[in-house]
Amino acid sequence: MQIEKPKLAFKGKLTPIKKVTKVVCHHPAHPTWGIMEIHNYHKNSKGWAGIGYNYLICKNGRIQEGRGKNVGAHCSGRNSDTLGVCFQGDFDKQQMTDAQVKAGGWLIAKLIKEHGLQINDVLGHRDLAATACPGKNFRMADLKAEILANLNPKTKTSERKLSGMKPNWKDWQWKEAAEIYKKARVKGILSSDEWEKKATAKNLTFDEIEYLNLVLNGRLL
Ligand SMILES: [Zn+2]
Repeated sequence: MQIEKPKLAFKGKLTPIKKVTKVVCHHPAHPTWGIMEIHNYHKNSKGWAGIGYNYLICKNGRIQEGRGKNVGAHCSGRNSDTLGVCFQGDFDKQQMTDAQVKAGGWLIAKLIKEHGLQINDVLGHRDLAATACPGKNFRMADLKAEILANLNPKTKTSERKLSGMKPNWKDWQWKEAAEIYKKARVKGILSSDEWEKKATAKNLTFDEIEYLNLVLNGRLL
């Protein structure tokens, strides 16, 4: 995956962020707007320097740079120490795509590594401000599982190398893992069909199960 850098003309000079402490997820709450529409709206109607988000994840999984590593305009009071990642769409009405979960997981894992953050530093806008953003259908648990899968290169590489082969679960381990998965599914933590397919094929990774266990025990999210 790669980060595209569309040519965006900003008003004035942007200020680099000194220290990033959180990644904040957003949606533009518009069903179709892409980077140019958001950029023009923020620049011309809001009167900001240009698009307020640091990155945009399109519905088809394309990753585009907005403000990049410069101070954005996406989370009042926290712009100088956070990166805003916006997911295209209106998740009060629409569903987030699997491509967005994949691309967002890749990008945010990269940002976590670059800035020395942890999985708990990934937040929704609503965790920091009185807003519904990023919308009720935002798949935060799926996104965090994808981030963790990207952060563990061992899992990632072996999955890629053994494409089609299952992680090496011992029977008793899988029994416990399947229980955890079922609980997470019932609680609505996992919504996509991709998860169901992986579980049926015993293809969930150790990291994914560990993550679900943490969520179920209230230690994450
Ligand atoms: Zn927001």
